[in-house]
Amino acid sequence: MPGRQWDAASKAKVVLEGLKGRSESAICKRHRIKPTEYRRWRRQFLSNIARSLEPRRPPSEDVGHLRAGMPKKVWEESAKALRVAQELIEALPIPVFFKARDGKHLGANRAWETYFGVERDSFIGKTVNELFSAAPEVVARHKAADEALWRNPGTRSYELEVPVHDGSFRHTLNYKATFAGADGEIAGLIGAIIDITDRKRVEQRQAIEHRVARVLAESGTVADVMPEVLAAFCETLGWACGARWSLDARAGGFRCEETWRSVDNADIAAFLAESRKSIYQPGQAGFIRRVLGTGEPAWIVDVTAEKNFLRGKEAGKAGLRSAFALPIRLGDQTLGALEFFHGEEQQADEWLLKTGAAIGAQLGHFMARVQAERDLRLSEARFRSLTALSSDWYWEQDEELRLTFMSGRFVERTGIDPAPFIGRRRWERPAPNLTESDWARHKAQLERHEPFFDFEVERVSPDGVSVWLSLCGEPVFEDGKFRGYRGVGTDITDRKRAQAVLRAAYDELTRSNSELQQFAYVASHDLQEPLRMIGSYTQLLERRYGDKLDADAREFMSFIVEGATRMKQLIEDLLAYSRVGTRGKELRPVQAQGALDRALVNLRASIESSGAQITHDLLPEVSADETQLTQLFQNLIGNAIKFRKKDEPPRVHVALRDAGDEWRFSVSDKGIGIEPQYFERIFMVFQRLHTRDEYPGTGIGLAICKKVVDRHRGRIWVESAYGEGSMFHFTLHKIQKGQT
Ligand code: ADP
Repeated sequence: MPGRQWDAASKAKVVLEGLKGRSESAICKRHRIKPTEYRRWRRQFLSNIARSLEPRRPPSEDVGHLRAGMPKKVWEESAKALRVAQELIEALPIPVFFKARDGKHLGANRAWETYFGVERDSFIGKTVNELFSAAPEVVARHKAADEALWRNPGTRSYELEVPVHDGSFRHTLNYKATFAGADGEIAGLIGAIIDITDRKRVEQRQAIEHRVARVLAESGTVADVMPEVLAAFCETLGWACGARWSLDARAGGFRCEETWRSVDNADIAAFLAESRKSIYQPGQAGFIRRVLGTGEPAWIVDVTAEKNFLRGKEAGKAGLRSAFALPIRLGDQTLGALEFFHGEEQQADEWLLKTGAAIGAQLGHFMARVQAERDLRLSEARFRSLTALSSDWYWEQDEELRLTFMSGRFVERTGIDPAPFIGRRRWERPAPNLTESDWARHKAQLERHEPFFDFEVERVSPDGVSVWLSLCGEPVFEDGKFRGYRGVGTDITDRKRAQAVLRAAYDELTRSNSELQQFAYVASHDLQEPLRMIGSYTQLLERRYGDKLDADAREFMSFIVEGATRMKQLIEDLLAYSRVGTRGKELRPVQAQGALDRALVNLRASIESSGAQITHDLLPEVSADETQLTQLFQNLIGNAIKFRKKDEPPRVHVALRDAGDEWRFSVSDKGIGIEPQYFERIFMVFQRLHTRDEYPGTGIGLAICKKVVDRHRGRIWVESAYGEGSMFHFTLHKIQKGQT
């Protein structure tokens, strides 16, 4: 391979690549040179520079001194290379310096001045002690490296954090190489400083992120994860301890949940224990409060001097100085915060806060996921208990309305194997109770994606027994798309059987009741005829043969007449009673006031003879059989007059009250009253509390009232204080809107 022509400037550039940190093998490969050649260039370069940098001897004046004993051509070549190297070093953006064998600095370039904020003129001739007087550990490290180089000349590199112009610490890679003087002895070293802070930070960030990611992937619970996350920050960055804070919505405050410390220090342990002790109330003051309130990270350079840091005294005692906190966030929501402490003052580090914010967001997602998983487990457990404890079964249908799932309770309850139903639509299996049009209605409802309730389906078990199911279902939508139905089923066979028995009994009852009514009506009607005969022939007997009979016979005859009259009355009342059911008219809107007026007209004779005083509220329109309503008022007011106190004229009031859907009518009197044990009995046929001598009557009046009110689907009852008066109440439905 034809060798390339290397001039001094190109050689110097190659050597500088090495000073910037590129490895020897990489350089040789790149420029296609042999390692021996590269090393020779480097030696030359370094010794040239060393010579040029001797204090107070500018390069231009150096010529004579260096030239001694050199052939002219060599000298010229060498002087040219030297100038190039000097210019390059000066212009180099990385700090470069030279030190003599005794440790005193020989020179440095402009980048060095800027990096450390020190003028080289003021520093030349001084040692590293003076440059880093405030950082003894830096001095020690440099010195150790130099000692090693003096012992073993060559090159050496090491990482170190050093304070720079603004007081902050930077990560550097220090590259040093010895050079020999004209006599061949080691004369000093050249050093180049490469700032690897950014790389370091990327590494640290990656280390933290990597560790956090692993922890999040491996651990299940928040309590397991958080100490590991705190450790990842502290150990990677060299911070002393940390804590995780959470918002406790139920307690209305926030609390320290987990802590971590890198050293076994009792004071730090005590400080962390103190933090964990109580629930803090949200407010304005306080470090964590601020972070939770704003959702922004925060930094305190010195917690012992910051009044916004409430645990400052305890932190000071534990030897803690700087703190930073970052929010654990989920979108706009702040779920908690991480807090870290350093034993020495640390300037606010934007990079760290940014890294922290990213990890805070990651933790927020993790917490949300854990919560979602917990919610899911809970709701699954709820669902399981629900299905385990309920006698109903659960089912699901796909979007084609085919059954996809049926819980085990179905076969348990019904004894029917669900297999033939799976994959089929509901109407694809026989259901004796449902007609084509029933199914069509059900299908239409499902196609409209409507929920349905108590849809009754009769299925037949393999041994031919009818099983009745009641199904409820609701449509399932995912992202607005119809996904099918889900619902529950109940075995209602027992209910159905009971219903059938009840219906049969009811039908039987209605039939026998109407027969009975018919019978009562016919009987009372037909009884009247022979009774009339007894009456008229007794009268005839008295008229024709009265004078032939003695006093006893006449008295016996008057008993017959009286008995017949009473029997006639009883039969008439019975007839009236049975007519309430058989001869009732349809219910129509009628004025209750009109019915009352007619009742009062019918009662005029007894009102006048008793001197009764009757008052009433204004009565409304009601849905009723007018004749029966009149009868109702008449019987109640009639009784109120009849059962008056001997020495007082009766006073009766008809009152009206609005009772929601109903009107409540009340007929009250100041009469003799009724004892409570008779409150029910008096509404039964022929039940009376007095003899006919005391108060006339047959005991049918209230029975008729009850039958009338029953027919109107109302209620009737009495309130009374014995000896003070009675109040008969009955209710009638209000006329619904639209009813005519
Ligand atoms: P009758 O009036 O024919 O006796 P009812 O069926 O009307 O029959 O009444 C039954 C019984 O209820 C009456 O015998 C009476 O003892 C009692 N009663 C009814 N209304 C009143 C009233 N307003 N005050 C006191 N007792 C009454």
